Amino acid sequence: MWNVLDRKMMTKKTPILYVVVPCFNEQEALPVSHGNLSRLLGEMKEQNLIAEESKLLYVDDGSRDDTWEIIEKLSHDNDMVAGVKLSCNSGHQNALMAGLAAAVELSDIIVSIDADLQDDINVIPSMVKRYMDGCDIVFGVRRERKSDTWFKRNTARVFYSLMKKLGVSTIENHADFRLMSHRAVMALLDYKERNLFIRGIVTKLGYKTDCVYYNRSARVAGESKYPLKKLVNFAIDGITSFSVKPVRLVMQVGLSFLLIALIILIYVLCAYFMGRAVSGWPSLILSVWLVGAFILIGLGIIGEYVGKIYTEVKNRPRFNVDTTVGLDKD
Ligand code: UDP
Ligand code: MG
Repeated sequence: MWNVLDRKMMTKKTPILYVVVPCFNEQEALPVSHGNLSRLLGEMKEQNLIAEESKLLYVDDGSRDDTWEIIEKLSHDNDMVAGVKLSCNSGHQNALMAGLAAAVELSDIIVSIDADLQDDINVIPSMVKRYMDGCDIVFGVRRERKSDTWFKRNTARVFYSLMKKLGVSTIENHADFRLMSHRAVMALLDYKERNLFIRGIVTKLGYKTDCVYYNRSARVAGESKYPLKKLVNFAIDGITSFSVKPVRLVMQVGLSFLLIALIILIYVLCAYFMGRAVSGWPSLILSVWLVGAFILIGLGIIGEYVGKIYTEVKNRPRFNVDTTVGLDKD
């Protein structure tokens, strides 16, 4: 009881914030985005919302343009800027993980945001306030997607509803704009899987979460770095990394085939005894359905084992501890 009260009364110190920005060929957008982000960080420091040590961390995801030169120059001119350069293009989600891994030991909270500033940076102060109120993860959620194309808006809607049906918990209209506390990032970094779909993992961590809402705007400069092919791969990753339901579907289809085979058996027997069956037809039609059913059931059984192996090799942590009591050394 006292412990809980003590903890509630304990005020958090002004946090060190790191803003992690993955950048891939962002030479057009970066100078504009940096101007806005550094202004915001300066203001937040002035208001004592974040500590003086807070920084912007740009991750160059193997860009082929001048992105890294720009980051180097920004860091040279300004103490508030740090950079990580990946040796080759590793993809948005991996670049984000690299940034989180580099920032986690230096910060109390990390905000991740895309370099094109389609997400509204002006909600970052409210994210920090939610953290101060006790949240570990604060999701930035788009109120509407008017600035996206018709195609992107609708494919995104179909994708989110499919994910929901498959039992994967994601927050609709939340991309990778979020604040995470130190311990939430540490927990996320424990997920060692290669096919990353971070927004699906974050909702699984179990810590206290909240949302802030904003309107998504158009890219500040440059073009989208997510062509259709990357987008489709990302969606497939999202589904197959979190759900074994597609495998179970094979088994269900196999069982329905077996049921159909039984109905056909009854029909064939009736036709046979009524003398309406053409010779050779009963055995042929029955074997088609029965063999189909057995093949699918067999695949379904193998699929169950493959699914188990899949969850094992991902080596995900089994639990996350929220708090403990009576376990401190002193
Ligand atoms: N990005 C990255 N590596 C990639 C592709 C994209 O780091 O291989 C970064 C990109 O620089 C941007 C963010 O991921 O900061 C999101 O990309 P983008 O804004 O082009 O995606 P969209 O908003 O069009 O979905
Ligand atoms: Mg974008």
